[in-house]
Amino acid sequence: MTAYAITPWQLPAVPVAGGNELFPVRHIYCVGRNYAEHAREMGANPEREAPFFFTKAADQIVPGGGKIPYPPRTKNLHHEIELVVAIGNEGADIAVAATRDYIFGYAIGVDLTRRDLQIAARDKGRPWDTGKSFANAAPIGAIHPAAEIGHPRGGRIEFRVNGAMRQRGDLADMIWSVDEIIAELSTYYPLLPGDLIFTGTPAGVGAMAPGDRGEGTIENLDTIKIEIAKV
Ligand code: MN
Repeated sequence: MTAYAITPWQLPAVPVAGGNELFPVRHIYCVGRNYAEHAREMGANPEREAPFFFTKAADQIVPGGGKIPYPPRTKNLHHEIELVVAIGNEGADIAVAATRDYIFGYAIGVDLTRRDLQIAARDKGRPWDTGKSFANAAPIGAIHPAAEIGHPRGGRIEFRVNGAMRQRGDLADMIWSVDEIIAELSTYYPLLPGDLIFTGTPAGVGAMAPGDRGEGTIENLDTIKIEIAKV
């Protein structure tokens, strides 16, 4: 028998709503610029180009939100409220019409971003990793099984900071639909049970400072609250 050379860690996992079960997290994929108004505010052309993807690490989830330390090496921490898809079955080259066979459920999540690092990397043609993938970068609410809530393809998606509306959009305004995202992503990677896909954010992204409280809502799905801890 073999043993681990160092102590193994627990699988990152997100509670499933309405029970005691956990959804183990394998990969976190994210879609860039998937709402036209947000693409414009990031200085990009909102025309329908093929979706593009980046990743976060599974252990960067913050299940249930709550208090989050201000991350290091940034002076511009941004909120991006997003619909998150949880994959339940393995598949590659999935047809747009068949994606529902692979979806376990949905959650609300925040794609926290060190915007200054992301923009600096983008402008130099470097990878986005330091801007997007860092400790506590992926607060996420409970996973709601599609078997219970169906497949949300429309509905208000909003984010407030200290009670003031910052982001407001509608899931129906995605440039690439959830189904098109899954089909395209599955041509790059085999999608596996435990994978999460952050599907992009509407316009109004902005900074959060230590002490700020954020509240995100997706209509008919869930609410998530985060608070940036005072340093
Ligand atoms: Mn995002």
